Amino acid sequence: MTDSIGEIAGIGPKMAEKLQAIGIYRIQDLLNYFPIRYDQYEQKPLHELTHQDKVTIVGKVIHPPQVSYFHKKRSRLVVSLQVDNVAVKGIIFNRAFAKDHFQPGEIVTVNGKWDQHRLQITIDQYRKGAIDKNAPITAIYSSRGEIKQAQIKKWMKLAFEAYKQDIEEILPLSYLQNYKLPTRAEAFQEIHFPSSFYHLKHAKRRLIYEELLIFQLQMQQLRKNTKEQTKGNAKEIDKQEVDQLIESFPFELTTAQNNVLNEIFKDLSQPYRMNRLLQGDVGSGKTAVAIASLYGVVKAGEQTAFMVPTEILAEQHEASMKEILPEDITIMRLTSSVKGKKRKEILAALASGECDVIIGTHALIQDEVHFKNLGYVIIDEQHRFGVKQRNILQEKGILADTLYMTATPIPRTLSITMYGDMDVSKIDEMPKGRQPIETYWVKPNMMNRIFAFVYEQVKQGSQAYVICPLIEESDKLDIQNALDVYQQLSLILEGRAKVGLMHGRLPSDEKETVMRDFANNDIQILVSTTVVEVGVNVPNATVMVIQDADRFGLSQLHQLRGRVGRGTKKSFCILMADPKGETGKERMQIMSETTDGFELAEKDLQLRGAGDIFGVKQSGLPEFKLADIVHDYRALETARNDAYEIIFGNKLVEPEYEKLKKYVNQNLLHDDTLLN
Ligand code: ADP
Ligand code: MG
Repeated sequence: MTDSIGEIAGIGPKMAEKLQAIGIYRIQDLLNYFPIRYDQYEQKPLHELTHQDKVTIVGKVIHPPQVSYFHKKRSRLVVSLQVDNVAVKGIIFNRAFAKDHFQPGEIVTVNGKWDQHRLQITIDQYRKGAIDKNAPITAIYSSRGEIKQAQIKKWMKLAFEAYKQDIEEILPLSYLQNYKLPTRAEAFQEIHFPSSFYHLKHAKRRLIYEELLIFQLQMQQLRKNTKEQTKGNAKEIDKQEVDQLIESFPFELTTAQNNVLNEIFKDLSQPYRMNRLLQGDVGSGKTAVAIASLYGVVKAGEQTAFMVPTEILAEQHEASMKEILPEDITIMRLTSSVKGKKRKEILAALASGECDVIIGTHALIQDEVHFKNLGYVIIDEQHRFGVKQRNILQEKGILADTLYMTATPIPRTLSITMYGDMDVSKIDEMPKGRQPIETYWVKPNMMNRIFAFVYEQVKQGSQAYVICPLIEESDKLDIQNALDVYQQLSLILEGRAKVGLMHGRLPSDEKETVMRDFANNDIQILVSTTVVEVGVNVPNATVMVIQDADRFGLSQLHQLRGRVGRGTKKSFCILMADPKGETGKERMQIMSETTDGFELAEKDLQLRGAGDIFGVKQSGLPEFKLADIVHDYRALETARNDAYEIIFGNKLVEPEYEKLKKYVNQNLLHDDTLLN
């Protein structure tokens, strides 16, 4: 397996060089060069076809095809096919000559990209007659560089024949039995030389699981190392005192909040550093959990830092903490707008230990900030910060326990891969009494009716946000600016309701005043840019109007919508948009149908692809050979759980796992992920 590819007859030094150029050095690398697709048509019923996939359809030609010409030499051929009693449209571009192949009444097999909504296939390949069920399935490899398809196939065959007895099983037998997986040798045989689609499917299943397990074993090992290296920071949490605080809350914690809090306290009292991600949809009540947990730490005699992405949030959290926590706890706030004497005082209080809880923005990670004994770090809206920024704050403490909170729903698949070396807690339940937010998508010409509706709500004692995408008028983009809307609304509602204006360029004390007035219902309608996107909490607000909503992505729209529906009153989100493109329309549609953040994020992922979200491309995630983290998330979850059992259950010492361990250690992702 580790023999050089030069060992294969027919591969001379020159060819070996070409193979090395695409990363193939050893026999093992060649066998791991998996096909990108298979030739042989597999026919599925129409309803099982996936939108945008390459599919094969067998049908009967209904009418003679129609050909139309455009742009001088371009042509478009449309043929209608009858497939299982459904009419399907086939389209062929620039091959008008194909017309004669489609005679009415004839059966044809076509292959191409499927459009589920239009029941339409864009045909690449076509041939007369139905599929030949006995035709062999052939693997097609990516023939990069100067290597020809036929050559790869030939060597694959030679290499496999010569080395197949050396393909050792690395998984314990019990795994093969439990998951009904083929052996490693069988899987390699079937993936390169499939005997049927059935066997191919199971071969892939096996190799995908193996790939994910190997990845997860290394991630779990990393986690275990971190735990062992950070011994010695156990905190003595007084649960009774925390419970007393929780009893003073104006609400009862949900079961999910309680569970998460217990997970956190368990970690805090263990002798290793906590590295925990708290996921919870917007409005699920993460702040309450954070405050209760930091109270426990302060009572245990250590300092806490709470970092948030915006000044508005810092101010808001400070206010709610001062309301909830007993007076003998010293809470301070540090942002870039805190200057001069005040700043010096705060820095001194942090260094002397007089300040128990510091809440702040990026200002907290400046060099001048020193703590006496920082024991606990909470990072709210953690996706807003870079990895480096998060680490800097953590390192200002000695083995500080860290809680990362995120309201941006990260689909399960991504959280398992991205946060494979973190523990993940989830608040998967909304506080009692919440009503689903009703979302409507309307055209901008409904403006007057919308504002009438907003005023109706205000008259009933509620409040509203009106979000405008940009602060300055841009003729090009034709975006209405916040100032315009603010002036217009103020004029219309003069004497009946107070309208406020919020945007990023306001001086910070003005921002504070506006937010405070809105929180106190001295302002009823807040016209704002997206600065209120994250975290802002005014439970009395029940209407969120978003102008030019099609300019926002799904996650951002969901965040904005999450500013309402935070109390027990019925809330509304109104998306004003006139999207020109299909994706824009689709997004508005999805938003009006889905209120669940996780579901939305999964859809977002499907619309955009994994690489696009949260800069996954730059996040250092491995590129899997076979596995697709969106598609194979079940396998990923299984692999994660198994890897956890193996690493934390110290199973690697058992003989069953010897081959697996050796294999992983010979193919490490990083030096730090060595299994031991
Ligand atoms: P997020 O998870 O988006 O950060 P917050 O922590 O801001 O959510 O909470 C949203 C609102 O729900 C706040 O007004 C908070 O006081 C309230 N809340 C939190 N937990 C509960 C609960 N268990 N029951 C009722 N209301 C709650
Ligand atoms: Mg929050």
